[in-house]
Amino acid sequence: MGPNLVAGFWARVSWSPRRAAPETPRFATQGHTSAVSAASAGRHLQGVAVSFGAPDTLVSDGGIHLLLAGEIYNRDEVAKALGNASAAHGSDATLVLAAWHHWGITAFRILNGRFAALLLDGGGRVVVATDHAGSVPLWLRADAHGVDVSTEAKTLAGLPGTPLDVAGAQLLPGGTGVHRVQAGTALILETVQGEVRTANRVYTWTPPVSRAAVGEEIAVGRVRRLLAQAVQTRLRDDPEPTVVLSGGIDSSGVAAHAVAHSGLVHSVSMGTEASDEFGPAKVVAGHLGTDHSEMTIHSSDLVRELPWAVWAAEIADHTILEYLLPLIALYRRLPPGPRRVLTGYGADIPLGGMHRHTEPLDLLDSVIAHDMATFDGLNEMSPVISGVAGIWSTHPYWDRDLLDCLISLDPGLKRRYGRDKWVLREALARMLPAETLSRPKLGIHEGSGTSSAWTALLLEKGVPPGRVEQCKAAMARRMHDLIVLRTRHPDEISFDEVLAATEKGRTRHAL
Ligand code: ATP
Ligand code: MG
Ligand code: MG
Ligand code: MG
Repeated sequence: MGPNLVAGFWARVSWSPRRAAPETPRFATQGHTSAVSAASAGRHLQGVAVSFGAPDTLVSDGGIHLLLAGEIYNRDEVAKALGNASAAHGSDATLVLAAWHHWGITAFRILNGRFAALLLDGGGRVVVATDHAGSVPLWLRADAHGVDVSTEAKTLAGLPGTPLDVAGAQLLPGGTGVHRVQAGTALILETVQGEVRTANRVYTWTPPVSRAAVGEEIAVGRVRRLLAQAVQTRLRDDPEPTVVLSGGIDSSGVAAHAVAHSGLVHSVSMGTEASDEFGPAKVVAGHLGTDHSEMTIHSSDLVRELPWAVWAAEIADHTILEYLLPLIALYRRLPPGPRRVLTGYGADIPLGGMHRHTEPLDLLDSVIAHDMATFDGLNEMSPVISGVAGIWSTHPYWDRDLLDCLISLDPGLKRRYGRDKWVLREALARMLPAETLSRPKLGIHEGSGTSSAWTALLLEKGVPPGRVEQCKAAMARRMHDLIVLRTRHPDEISFDEVLAATEKGRTRHAL
């Protein structure tokens, strides 16, 4: 059994019924596509859902229609608050619709999940919402005929018609008129003949800037309990979840809790001929008894998948692409078939794992606050990263409740006794081998040799060492322009051609 959910959607809401059926947009997410349509209060919704075995892609009740990509993790809590125990047994979309009926827009302040939602309310208004972290990116574009909403920007970028500005959403540069719905927001849009108005924008989550100075024992206990819950709710009774495992503390912690709640856990580690973390991952897999495998990818093959990383993440930031590339390459090489993947991604942001040498504590805390204030739009947690391989992935450390807890801990609990991520390591004591608990952080791009592979290829092609970073940034921007804004398929984009064009553009610019 694999995950049963809608992984992405595209839909157009307009006031005139479309004569022809909508063309199937080219999603990067690979799944079963099905057409959806609905109408209420003179508005027509037509679109396509891409799903991993979901039986109901669009749910309707009382003239209200909902498309939900992703899943909800506080189902029991929500059902209880609704006073409707049976709501916990239906689909997540049904639960969200029931929550909407009960709370209205406030529902999106109550749901803890990994989702993007599009709702056509009974009054002909369009509601779009992201989860607290915007972990399922959501995009929209408006013109004189209606509003297009999609979980993939590329499906909106090439649409005909003059785009309109949408207040309250972030306009993507490049002139396509595509806007990004920000993390932790719900927008209510009204469409009237030839016009789109933002009737309301509600913030549904914001990273806490206050800190709790609690004792060691309380902090450790809280992190342990919330991580257990975040992993357990993400397993969704899947009998065979997969953990992408580096042997670092973050993914090892996820694997440990997954094993505690699941009969059979697969784990997989990737490396290149230049670098890997196979040894440390194997220690964890052996200790936990996971069904473990290793995958070696040649670093030149890895770098040549950059267009796929851009296609999936829809970003132009080369440093983030370096983090995502090894995972995308790994997902694309897993045996095909439905699969639920849990990762240790994102733990370092609230815990300051990348800033382990930052002194003193108030500076560490400032850096954490800054990182938490600037994550939105990086798309690191996008499900399309694994969706390109038909896989559903989810990230327990960015569970809303766990994330709230981690961010707001006194920084002295994050770095303590000379150890980075101290509170997490303590929370996992007794669940993992001592060498794993004390293993220093190693970034995914370092452990897999991704950064050095891209650098090496550029040096080999004659890019001077002092210009490597600049060249990577320019290549990433060019790929984003071609693949997302101009909707080219990643297989049509070659690394060497992008490099040559980037270098040529630079020379021309210099003249
Ligand atoms: P640490 O941050 O302490 O090194 P970690 O390795 O688990 O712990 P990251 O390095 O931040 O975390 O990597 C993010 C996530 O990406 C990991 O938690 C893991 O799920 C996945 N990952 C990283 N490297 C690999 C790898 N070589 N093979 C498989 N998955 C990996
Ligand atoms: Mg690691
Ligand atoms: Mg980490
Ligand atoms: Mg690591």
